[in-house]
Amino acid sequence: MAVEILEAMRQFAESYAKRTNTFFCSDRTVTAFVLEGLAKNKKDLGSPLCPCRYYDNKEEEVVSSYWNCPCLPMRERKQCHCMLFLTPDNNYTSISQEISLEELKTLLDT
Ligand code: SF4
Repeated sequence: MAVEILEAMRQFAESYAKRTNTFFCSDRTVTAFVLEGLAKNKKDLGSPLCPCRYYDNKEEEVVSSYWNCPCLPMRERKQCHCMLFLTPDNNYTSISQEISLEELKTLLDT
């Protein structure tokens, strides 16, 4: 995993959470694994395709952009089924909109 891409996704997630008044999961490993998945897709496909879905054809999905993070359900209705961005009323939410690169690395054991 290229740490630069992971860092770019980390920065995106922090700023997007703050902009949308959403929060990271109280289970920090969820946040870490979703960010890792987004970074992997960004590296392999050129776009941060949602890592929590199955795709028959990833390249076609990237072009359609529907599931490029932030996906359309998130942009329109604040629905993130990966639990990366949670609304304040969600049972699994924390009060945190920040995660450091060091914490990410520790959680991912990289
Ligand atoms: S569900 Fe949408 S907002 Fe959440 S990680 Fe996947 S693409 Fe991003």
